Amino acid sequence: MKTLKFMADGMLGKLTRWLRMLGQNVEYSESLDDKELIKIAEEQHRTLLTRDLTLYQKATTLGLSAFLVDGSTETEKLANVAKRFNLSLEVDVTISRCPKCNTQIKPISKAEAVNKIPEKTSMHYKEFWMCPQCEKVYWHGAHWKQIEKTLKSAKQVVGKLDRF
Ligand SMILES: [Zn+2]
Repeated sequence: MKTLKFMADGMLGKLTRWLRMLGQNVEYSESLDDKELIKIAEEQHRTLLTRDLTLYQKATTLGLSAFLVDGSTETEKLANVAKRFNLSLEVDVTISRCPKCNTQIKPISKAEAVNKIPEKTSMHYKEFWMCPQCEKVYWHGAHWKQIEKTLKSAKQVVGKLDRF
């Protein structure tokens, strides 16, 4: 799948984490003002994602790529971005990025994971990934079902959007 570069505004923390999990390169900070968001989007050739119409208009007036994120739930927001940029709503761990810090995660062996996670977890799972930057370890734990469920409903929303 293609990887795109985004700059998300401070209101889009949850969406940022979803997009990173799906392998998209998303910069995000809660503390940047409009000017700084625009500067980073411009310098790093990132598409600005925002819920703020004024900021969206500022960016497009400057000729930057921007998208006004519509949707009242996280699922709808994700579906709208996926539809607009034709993103796959399947997690592909070979391209997934750390939801916390945007670094590409790498598979690690169980032996490597064992020291970094609760013992119970290491007993029940075989596959592990780690973020080389913040060293957070990931596995397809109980929360994974919820992730799949959310992605499934996002796909259904995309399906509905297609009909209009
Ligand atoms: Zn990380």
